Amino acid sequence: MSNQDNQTRWQSAMMNNYGTPQLTLTRGEGAVVTDAEGNRYLDLVTGIAVNALGHAHPAIVAAVTEQVATLGHTSNLYINEPALTLAERLLELSGVAGGKVLFCNSGAEAVETAFKLTRRTGRTKVIATDGGFHGRTMGALSLTGQPGKRTPFEPLVPGVRHIRYGDVAALEAEIDDETAAFVVEPVQGENGVVVPPHDYLRAARELTSRHGALLVVDEVQTGIGRLGSWFAFQQAGITPDVFTLAKGLGGGLPLGACVAVGETASLFEPGQHGTTFGGNPVCCAAALAVLDTIETEGLLEQVSTVGKELREGIERLEHPMVLGVRGRGLLLAVLLREAVSAKVAAAAQRAGFLINPVQPDVLRLAPPLVFGREQAGEFLAALPGVLDATTEED
Ligand code: PMP
Repeated sequence: MSNQDNQTRWQSAMMNNYGTPQLTLTRGEGAVVTDAEGNRYLDLVTGIAVNALGHAHPAIVAAVTEQVATLGHTSNLYINEPALTLAERLLELSGVAGGKVLFCNSGAEAVETAFKLTRRTGRTKVIATDGGFHGRTMGALSLTGQPGKRTPFEPLVPGVRHIRYGDVAALEAEIDDETAAFVVEPVQGENGVVVPPHDYLRAARELTSRHGALLVVDEVQTGIGRLGSWFAFQQAGITPDVFTLAKGLGGGLPLGACVAVGETASLFEPGQHGTTFGGNPVCCAAALAVLDTIETEGLLEQVSTVGKELREGIERLEHPMVLGVRGRGLLLAVLLREAVSAKVAAAAQRAGFLINPVQPDVLRLAPPLVFGREQAGEFLAALPGVLDATTEED
C-alpha cells in the first residue's frame, strides 16, 4: 500500500480530526520512522511529544512483552504491582510529601480528574489561561483557552475564567477567596511553546496559597524529562497541589496520571471517580521502563545539552524566514516571520524530517529524549535548505 492509497482508505473509514494525514508510518527505531513506501524520516514530532525513548526502545519492548504475557489487565478493583510501583516512583521523583496518584489513559482524562478534584474543595470558580491547552473532553476543553476549539461545543462547564498567560498582575486581579484553583501549563505547548516569565509559577504558588486555592500544574507535555528535569515545576522551585501527566509517561502506551499533594489527595471519596483502564499493568510496566531508562542513560542531562545545542544552532542560522527560537530542553519552537509553518513542515518532510506546524507561524520541535547530538546536527545542517525550498515553492 502506498501513502496515497492509504489516504483514500483513511478518508472513507476514519473521522477527520486534524485534517487528512499524508503519511502512513509503518516502523520506528530510536528517532527514525519509516513510511509505507520505505522512506525514512528523523522524527521531531514523536507522536506529539509522546515516545520519550524514541521508537521500539528495547527496555520498553522487554517490559511490555513480559507484562502482557504475565497479567494484561486488572481494573482498579484489584492492586497490580506495576501501577503500585509506578505511583511510588512518581511520588519519589517529584519529591512531593504525602502525595497520591490516580492513573488514567490520556492527558485530557488526567485534567478531567484534576478538574473534578477542584470541585471537592466546595468552590466552583476556576482560573485558566488564554491560549492554554488542556485537552478536548468537555471539562478539559472548558479549561482550554483557545476559542477555535471551544466555540463549536459551547456551552461548556461554567465557572471558568481565562486570563492572560504569564501575567502575574492578571492572576492577582482575578483570584479571590471563592477561587477553587488556578490551572496552568509551565510552558504552553500547543499554543506554540510559549515560555512565561521566570518567576511566574512562583508567583502563582504564592497567590493560590494566599487565597486557599489549588495550584494545578498541567505537566502533560512538559513532564517526564522533556524540559531537562523530571517535572517542570521543579525548575521553578515550587510544589503544586495537583499536577497532571500523560504523553511521555507511557513511552508510547496510553497512560495518564493525576498526582495530588497533601490533603488534596484525599478529596475524592470512594466511588466518586475512576476509570476502567486506569493503571493498566502493561502501560505502567512501560512507564517504569521509561523512568528507569531516563535514569540509566542519563537522559535528563542529555535533553538539556542537546536541547541547548539545537536552540543555539537555530539562533545562529540567521535565516531571513526565521524570527527566533524559544523553549526549553527538547520542547522548542522555531518562530517564522510569516504564517508558512505548514509549508516548511512539508518541505522538511520531503527532506526526511518530521516537524510539527503547531501554529501558523510556529514550528514545534519535540524529538524523543534519546535524540543525540549527531541527530541534532543532522537537522541543523538540513534546516537552511528546508527553509530555502519553502521559499522557492511560494
Ligand atoms: N494538557 C496538555 C498540556 C497537553 O499538551 C495536552 C495534549 N496536547 C493535553 C492536556 C491533552 O492530552 P491528550 O491529547 O492525551 O488528551
